[in-house]
Amino acid sequence: MSENTEKPVAPVEEKKGKKGKPEKKKKEEKGVYTLYKIEGDKLVRLRPTCDRCGPGYFMADHGDRYTCGHCGFTRYKHAE
Ligand SMILES: [Zn+2]
Repeated sequence: MSENTEKPVAPVEEKKGKKGKPEKKKKEEKGVYTLYKIEGDKLVRLRPTCDRCGPGYFMADHGDRYTCGHCGFTRYKHAE
């Protein structure tokens, strides 16, 4: 005669770590038209212009700061 000894088996919870796929950066084509907005009959510039280079040289929006791609001038946004 054989005896079956029941052993309490603890349920094993498998944690499946979801691996986030690396986000593919889409290369957005930017034209000068993205820098302007027409309100009525007014032309509104959406980016600030460089203080060094003068009007015509737009500064790139980098979240908390603007940088000029022409001379490298960086201007920080007002953080309050
Ligand atoms: Zn500049």
